[in-house]
Formats: sequence, structure tokens, C-alpha cells
Amino acid sequence: MKKQILFIVLFVIIFSGLMAFIGSKQTVQLSSPRSTLTVVLDAGHGGIDVGAVGRSGTLESDLNLVYCKKLKKIMEEYGMNVIMTREDENGLYSEYKNGFKMEDMRKRREIVQNANPDVVISIHMNKFAVSSSRGAQVFYDDENGSGKELAEVMQKVFIENLPYARKEAKSADLYMLKCVSSPSILIECGYLSNAEEEKLLTEEDYINKLCYLIVASVLSVIQK
Ligand SMILES: [Zn+2]
Repeated sequence: MKKQILFIVLFVIIFSGLMAFIGSKQTVQLSSPRSTLTVVLDAGHGGIDVGAVGRSGTLESDLNLVYCKKLKKIMEEYGMNVIMTREDENGLYSEYKNGFKMEDMRKRREIVQNANPDVVISIHMNKFAVSSSRGAQVFYDDENGSGKELAEVMQKVFIENLPYARKEAKSADLYMLKCVSSPSILIECGYLSNAEEEKLLTEEDYINKLCYLIVASVLSVIQK
């Protein structure tokens, strides 16, 4: 029964989202009011640290920001309060010198902690030496139970709704998943090292779809 309800909720949210971006002018809104959820969106990398570079030159740091801006837009339509760790192409360090990456990560943690968020979502793009590897994957910290639950639901939603997704959510020892005790996940949206997926990841329709699936998963798991 719980599963059926979850399915219906997801369907309604995803369908109304899909309708909004396939041309309908209707506004995306949830039918029932809910308390404001505060979400921190963390666009990975920035500045000199561009992250992964796609086979045709797509920079992970740029694409992470594109996804975060789209997520922010959708989340605000659903009445969520969104805080971003960065809103432009720059990193969060004062200058490029030894230890700049640690300074960047500490600033991100500071932003997360000051936001007192209900959810933390870090956005990244993956790469791998084997170019056939592809698919979105959600990561969680083993000591963050609610993050694990969110990651597993989201991974399932990806598997059911995307042409390619990794088979399961995975635990990982990552700095951004340890900033607060609230559910924290890191999403590797896909592989820039796979030429076909690199192209897909930059397409407006795919960006919209993936972002709606992320928001739908968050709303189905995080209650306030
Ligand atoms: Zn990354």
C-alpha cells in the first residue's frame, strides 16, 4: 500500500513536471500545502577546478551549475527554500594556491551548516577510463541513514525513468556528505567520458527530466 501511494505521488509530480516542459503552459504546483523545505544545492568544482572534461569538451563544473540552476528553479516552484554553494563559474577559494581545494570545500561546508538544511544535494558528472560506462548514480554516506533512504529511492526512480542508470545507489566516503546530519546525497548525473551520454547530459529535455526526477524523489522521501 505504501509503495502504491509512493508510486501515485511520484506519478503525479513527475507527470505535472513533464507536462510543464513538453510545451504546456500550466504552472507546476503541488496540490497539498507543505512546510517549507530548505535545500542546499552544491554545484561541484568551479574556477580552475573544472572537474571532468567531456570527450567533446564539456566542462563538468559548468554543467553542474546548469543542473543546480534548473533544480533551484523547479524547487522554488514547489515552494522550497533553496541555497546554492556557488551561483557562478568561480570556485569558493580566495586565490589559486596550495590547499585551494580544501579552502573551497570548507567554505561549502560552512554554507551548508549555516543553512540548517533539510536536504543537501551535491551535483557532479562522472568519468571513467572505460568509455562505455554510463548512467546516473546516487551516493550516500553510510552513517547518514536518511541520506541512504533518499539515495535508494532516487536511484530506483532513475532506473525506472531514464534510458540508462547505474544498478544501485552506492555508499561513499565524501566530504560533502558529512557536513550536517540531515539527509545528504551526491548525484553523479552521468558520464562525460561516454560521448553519447555527454551529448544527452547537455540537452534541455534531458536536463529537465533528470531534475524533475530528483525533485520528485526528494518530495516523496523528505517530510517535514
Ligand atoms: Zn565531480
